[in-house]
Amino acid sequence: MIPPIASRFVAGESPAEALDHARQLNDRNVKAILNLLGEHYDERRPADEDAEAYLRMVEDIESADAEACISVKPSQVGLDVGTEVFHENVERIADHAAERGVFVWIDMEDHDTTDATLDIYEKLAQKHEGGVGVCVQANLKRTDDDLERLADLPGKVRLVKGAYDPPAEVAYEEKSAVNAAYERQLEYMFSNFDGGIAVGSHDPEMIAYAEDLYEEYGTDFEIQMLMGVREDAQYDLAGEYEVWQYVPYGDKWLSYFYRRVMERKENLLFAVRAIVGR
Ligand code: FAD
Repeated sequence: MIPPIASRFVAGESPAEALDHARQLNDRNVKAILNLLGEHYDERRPADEDAEAYLRMVEDIESADAEACISVKPSQVGLDVGTEVFHENVERIADHAAERGVFVWIDMEDHDTTDATLDIYEKLAQKHEGGVGVCVQANLKRTDDDLERLADLPGKVRLVKGAYDPPAEVAYEEKSAVNAAYERQLEYMFSNFDGGIAVGSHDPEMIAYAEDLYEEYGTDFEIQMLMGVREDAQYDLAGEYEVWQYVPYGDKWLSYFYRRVMERKENLLFAVRAIVGR
């Protein structure tokens, strides 16, 4: 069992707890993106095991009739073992999910995995029209070109600022440059995509900018935020827009919890208060 202190950011260790959390979100008009925690496996066995866990989760989502989908990390299903293993596993998951009407997101990891990730997304978006989405990172200089490649594909694209630390040759480093890229890329998406835009950000300025673009272009979009981050805003926004919450679950919660706590002073204070009981 995960300790109460971590339960702000992680739904639980079991798929049942993740689905319970999804149902609670659905009651508040928010949909759930379920992510089994795990990444960077350098052997095939754990990668295959997590792929199989996703196949079971897809079946559980279907039978629970929950407004939920899954999000898979490339290195969780074999990218560090080899591109072929990753492609094979993610295709297996997408095929299984498409048969059951469950949407599949592919997360984006380090900058040197972007090509392998976009290649399989392109294939699967065409194979399962409207059933697969991919994440792209505004801090990478290549993303403007990547969005041109993605614009005509029948899937969804989640734009995030980027959680990794790519080298300066390939990435914007200043916060202001990343924000400017995010806004530029959002505008490109609203003016060139037919829909399927996911704004993956907690930043009130980026959300407000997306709302303005929606007013201007009328292109369908959704907002995605993490479990435990600006949840009141998520519930408020769900009154007006489609909102999805990214919900991590599984027994590898410790390093994820640590990352969430360390990325922001307020989260660190929350953790310290929970530990000392005030
Ligand atoms: P930041 O630039 O971190 O913050 C801007 C403003 O947002 C802050 O000033 C504050 O007002 C508000 N804010 C931010 N965090 C908080 C908080 N904890 N509490 C209160 N206010 C806050 N990255 C990847 O590289 N690959 C992925 O596949 C990926 N998937 C993601 C999926 C989802 C649904 C989300 C939400 C993020 C994902 N990310 C992913 C992470 C992303 O790249 C960013 O690292 C992360 O979202 C932080 O950037 P931000 O846009 O939220 O705002």
